[in-house]
Amino acid sequence: MIRTVMSCEAGGCLALYVPDADAGADVLERAARRLGWRRRTTYTHTCPACAAGRGPVLERGTCPVCAGLTADLPDGATCHYCQTITPHPDN
Ligand SMILES: [Zn+2]
Ligand SMILES: [Zn+2]
Repeated sequence: MIRTVMSCEAGGCLALYVPDADAGADVLERAARRLGWRRRTTYTHTCPACAAGRGPVLERGTCPVCAGLTADLPDGATCHYCQTITPHPDN
């Protein structure tokens, strides 16, 4: 199955948004926009990190929003680029 993903058009940016399930382009667009992705043209997008002036994403990690590198901080895994905090799972 080919899954629809969203990538950032900024030069050298590795940001990627991969939805939990392949729900189609319209749903992907809405979900990504809620997370801070910005539409540039009909087919191109800017990731939250670049939109906030924190991009481009140069190292891939486990950020659920931009696939960027995260750092483990007390509040959770914090994205180095878009600042998304993913709380640590409760043990
Ligand atoms: Zn970007
Ligand atoms: Zn991120």
